[in-house]
Amino acid sequence: MTPTIAKFFWLACVIGWWLIRLPHERRVKKNKIAETKRDAQELILLGISLSGLGIIPIVYVLTGFPAFANRAFVPAVAWLGVLPALGSLWLFYRTHKELGRNWSVSLEVRDKHELITRGVYRYVRHPMYSAFFLWAVAQALLLPNWIAGLSGIVGFGTLYLFRVGREEQLMLNAFGEEYRTYMRRTARILPWVH
Ligand code: SAH
Repeated sequence: MTPTIAKFFWLACVIGWWLIRLPHERRVKKNKIAETKRDAQELILLGISLSGLGIIPIVYVLTGFPAFANRAFVPAVAWLGVLPALGSLWLFYRTHKELGRNWSVSLEVRDKHELITRGVYRYVRHPMYSAFFLWAVAQALLLPNWIAGLSGIVGFGTLYLFRVGREEQLMLNAFGEEYRTYMRRTARILPWVH
């Protein structure tokens, strides 16, 4: 593994993420939104997350900026990033498949929204967020730069911390006891870690 290969692998996975999400973005546009919490806070959080997982590392991979934050490239560390990267792609794919028409990039309940509790949703109630964290860890291991490497964890971590409680409240409003029961038997992002 060389720095260039690690960066190309990272970029290929980003394209993979995008290819998984694109058809869903198109498809869900047709589903009407019944309730939304897409407010200024949500948009700011999405911007922070996009910067940390997308803009900052892409600028680094394409231009080398910010070079002052470079760290030594350790091939074994980069290799360690390959498994979480591939695992996160698989999980990202599964969660999109299972959420289907109920998915939104923001906090939204759609017309005829169905509560999904099967597949990977049987073990954790936020497996898509688990996939994002796994991906952010891979980014930190693959990119030998403190800022571009860690920006994913910081960016997505911020979104997660401020969003997850509100999302659960939205689900509780929409599904009541059904979601409360589901919460009791699932962990948030790590199976069995309640
Ligand atoms: N937090 C989930 C989903 C992220 S997508 C995960 O990490 O997998 C965000 C949207 O999914 C929210 O707008 C919410 O309406 C919807 N959602 C969250 N959990 C859901 C579930 N179990 N079933 C159906 N929709 C869900």
